[in-house]
Amino acid sequence: MNAHRLVLKISKDEIQNRVRALAAQIASDYQGKDLVMVGVLKGAFIFLADLIRSLDMPVEVDFIRIASYGTSTESSGGITLSKDLECSIDGRDVLVVEDIVDTGLTMRWLMGHLQRRNPRTVKICALIDKYERRAVEMPVHYAGFRIPSGFVVGYGLDFAEKYRGLQGIYEVAFDAMVEGSHAG
Ligand code: 5GP
Repeated sequence: MNAHRLVLKISKDEIQNRVRALAAQIASDYQGKDLVMVGVLKGAFIFLADLIRSLDMPVEVDFIRIASYGTSTESSGGITLSKDLECSIDGRDVLVVEDIVDTGLTMRWLMGHLQRRNPRTVKICALIDKYERRAVEMPVHYAGFRIPSGFVVGYGLDFAEKYRGLQGIYEVAFDAMVEGSHAG
């Protein structure tokens, strides 16, 4: 793992306030509907847990796990499923709860996978929308925070399985100069 520092981007309080606001919006939009929230493992587990505890309506929760091939900080297009849904979404309203929509390739694949199960609607709720990095068009219907780019950790998000338990969201600053500065 390259030398790096963590720089706070979004505090615990900012996250809590935003999650409450998102939950209020979701509850108002889905009132009276048969809502299934599908958490994408592992990164979204803390976000989903906080979201449903602020949600003033009944909801079923299920999980899906996607494995994508790439390096630890760059995702790529090769996607497989390592855990599928356990509930039926036929005729139901599905809200996918994802940690980050970056290039959009993972969500494009997942939307295709879910649409084949005949849901009434499928929308996306993402903790972070990295809107500048999109390779394919992918709307985020409920976005916690919009950041242009950068690799972030904390609040469920990892870097090589570290940092998921941090309460805030931090940007990983890679100290390329630290390692290289003594050369010559
Ligand atoms: P996409 O297919 O949209 O490029 O990639 C989405 C996935 O890449 C996310 O679900 C997440 O697992 C991973 N990812 C993208 N950006 C970041 C980031 O800044 N931090 C972490 N921890 N994972 C990221």
